[in-house]
Amino acid sequence: MKKLLFSFAAASMMLACSSSQSSLSNAQSGPSEDSKLSAVLWQQTSAEYEALCHQAFNAAAYRLAIISNSGLDVIDQETGAAIVDQSSPNKKMAIVMDLDETVLDNSPYNGWLIENNKTYNAESWTEWCNLAKAELVPGALEFIEKSKNQGIKIMYISNRSVDDLEATISNLQNSGITVDRSDVLLKTENSEKIKRREQVMGSYNIVMLIGDNLADFTDAFDQKLSINERKVLIEKYRNDFGKKFIVLPNVMYGDWENTLKSNNNSDYIQNYNAYGLKKYIKTF
Ligand SMILES: [Mg+2]
Repeated sequence: MKKLLFSFAAASMMLACSSSQSSLSNAQSGPSEDSKLSAVLWQQTSAEYEALCHQAFNAAAYRLAIISNSGLDVIDQETGAAIVDQSSPNKKMAIVMDLDETVLDNSPYNGWLIENNKTYNAESWTEWCNLAKAELVPGALEFIEKSKNQGIKIMYISNRSVDDLEATISNLQNSGITVDRSDVLLKTENSEKIKRREQVMGSYNIVMLIGDNLADFTDAFDQKLSINERKVLIEKYRNDFGKKFIVLPNVMYGDWENTLKSNNNSDYIQNYNAYGLKKYIKTF
């Protein structure tokens, strides 16, 4: 894992699933094969990855039990993430889930990129989506079923393109997840999810958000933030993790690495391995 953390480039080309990822799609050079391999291998082969997924969904299920037993009084409005509309206290409860690396495992796409010495682009990503054969993240299906059995609505907010809606629904259904089109809110114009969360809040009280990227939880993380600013925000929300915010592991890509990119400008794209990234490593 330590090796992984040092291999920032590992995630750099695993840019499958968000607008921030696609911003790197024109990169002419990629990370070393070793570093690319590390992230995908960890997700595909490590039992620790699966354990972390189960840990996340177990925490979510525990939270679900608390909510079911004690009602909406456990939810506050402070963070804007789990809002109770006091004028409609009897709204049905909903859980909002991200899709990629939260419900759907896209590591085969990232493996394909490695195998074919390619970097992410929209065409190959769409090709992968259209196959509709991403397997499920461990524990996701059981949690979704448990939630539904307790009468809680599951809504999916993902930054897959709205053009991939049909394939995405097929993938979920092929995997045993019953879903209506209206349950899946994909990206139309920009990747910020706040408006889609507000759309859900129009009909439901959101009691939990589940994702692999911090922007899945609150728009505070949609801003261009430095490494330290992100960590300061984590302190602010630290009591929400494992409760309202359930985090899935994703070493392959995410805003964590886009933060490095933005700090390092375009040099990050062109010089993954040789330029600059070592300055982020703490040593003794
Ligand atoms: Mg995701």
